[in-house]
Amino acid sequence: MPDPTSPAHNNQLSLDNPVDRYPKISPPKQDQPEPGLDAKLEPQADHGEQSYVGTGRLKGRKALITGGDSGIGAAVAIAFAREGADVAIAYLPAEEEDAQKIISVIQQEGRTAVALPGDLLESNYRNELVDQAAKELGGLDILVNNAGKQIAVEQIEDLSDEQVLETFQVNILAMFTLSKAALKYLPEGASIINTTSVQAYEPSPVLLDYASTKAAINAFTKGLATQLAPRGIRVNAVAPGPIWTPLQVSDGQPKDKLPKFGHNVPLGRAGQPVELAAAYVFLASPESSYVVGETLNVNGGRSTP
Ligand code: NAD
Ligand code: MG
Repeated sequence: MPDPTSPAHNNQLSLDNPVDRYPKISPPKQDQPEPGLDAKLEPQADHGEQSYVGTGRLKGRKALITGGDSGIGAAVAIAFAREGADVAIAYLPAEEEDAQKIISVIQQEGRTAVALPGDLLESNYRNELVDQAAKELGGLDILVNNAGKQIAVEQIEDLSDEQVLETFQVNILAMFTLSKAALKYLPEGASIINTTSVQAYEPSPVLLDYASTKAAINAFTKGLATQLAPRGIRVNAVAPGPIWTPLQVSDGQPKDKLPKFGHNVPLGRAGQPVELAAAYVFLASPESSYVVGETLNVNGGRSTP
């Protein structure tokens, strides 16, 4: 199988066929405890380490990205740094190995990298995270609410109240806390970007709690965008389709689905995290100044409302 970390193209700006820009992967059945690690993902995913080229679109900006250690958040962290931003990443302590790799990529760009490990289920951490990020970055003008919990459960009778509460806490309730805290720091022109999902419109029967949070994130994004637009702060969302990340192998999908993960989209393959990065860069950058309350779908061609 071709190595997805060695893309056929040179960078995100190369013109090539999106069908085979990255290989159609058939991941072997694999299991990691939650949270999964990119370091152990098979095959490895592409976060743009070798392929994302910056063009100065976020020069001097200061960003906090939750779940910035791995998957989509890691690709966003690398892209933001290459675009000239200083970046704080939040992640679970168990993800230190993944986080350190991303921290060193950010530092290699000559940007400030801030590591903020902790659990969004803990109120102290949740309530202090934004203050900590703003303190260490010397301000804040981009908040990316991207951390997510996804555990597939076949039947609702087996879905515990505890799991439902935790999924809501990490995926959507934390967005209220962090967005509210960020307003103390966000200047006019700042951006909040929330990660939602194609699951908001096409809920999988095994992801009832997860899909419900993603629909809530869409409503939260549009409502908050309307509220904050007159204050000069833009709120938008990105809705990924099937992207190859550790979320999928730490019980995010039933194991027998992994070999065909992402094969059912019009492009015929799963997306790589780096393919999401430009969407976040666009929404963070002033070039999207008239884009407010939008959900940018990056899903390989699945139809959306
Ligand atoms: P990922 O596992 O790399 O990232 C999820 C991150 O969430 C973890 O790295 C972890 O740091 C963070 N997280 C989870 N529980 C936490 C907790 N209790 N406290 C603090 N942080 C916690 O996987 P990903 O796929 O890159 O996920 C990023 C976002 O993308 C999530 O919101 C996910 O729902 C969304 N998404 C992913 C896909 C996909 O196919 N991979 C599709 C649609 C949406
Ligand atoms: Mg992770």
